[in-house]
Amino acid sequence: MDRMTPQQRHRCMASIRSKDTGPELAVRRMVHAMGFRYRLHVRALPGCPDIVLPRHRKIIFVHGCFWHAHGCRTSRRAPATNKKFWKEKFARNKTRDAENLRALWRGGWQVLVIWECETKDTEHLRSVLAAFLAPTARVSNYPQDDRHAVYGMVAEETE
Ligand SMILES: [Zn+2]
Repeated sequence: MDRMTPQQRHRCMASIRSKDTGPELAVRRMVHAMGFRYRLHVRALPGCPDIVLPRHRKIIFVHGCFWHAHGCRTSRRAPATNKKFWKEKFARNKTRDAENLRALWRGGWQVLVIWECETKDTEHLRSVLAAFLAPTARVSNYPQDDRHAVYGMVAEETE
C-alpha cells in the first residue's frame, strides 16, 4: 500500500538521495554495529522513516537541523532573503514532522528522532541509541534532557 501523494513521494525520493551521507550514515553504521538489522526509507510509513526495525516495531529518524528547523546552534540561519517564505516553510516542516510521529506512535511504533547536531558526539549518540534499542526501552533510560527525543515514550508518560 502506498498512501503518499505524488508530492510526498517526490519529497521522499529527494531526501533519500541526499541522505546516504553524513549524519544518517553515522547512525546506520552504529545501529548495525550494535547487531540490529533494519530497512531504509520505508515509503509506506508516514514520513518515509529513515531507519525501520520491523521486528522491534522501532523507527529512527535522522533529522537535518536546517530543514527540520531544530533551532540549535548548529542549524544554519535561514537565508536573509525571503524571510517570510522560509518561516512558513519551516513551520510546515515542523507540523508535518509532528503529524508523522503521532501517526507512527498510534500505529504501534516506538519512534526516536536523532538530530544532525547530536551525531557529532559519538558517545552521546551511542548512549541514546543503546537506550532506545534496549529490549526494555523506557523513558527512564534517558537523561532528562534527552527525553524529548523519543516521541512515543514521552506520549506514554503524559497521556
Ligand atoms: Zn540541531
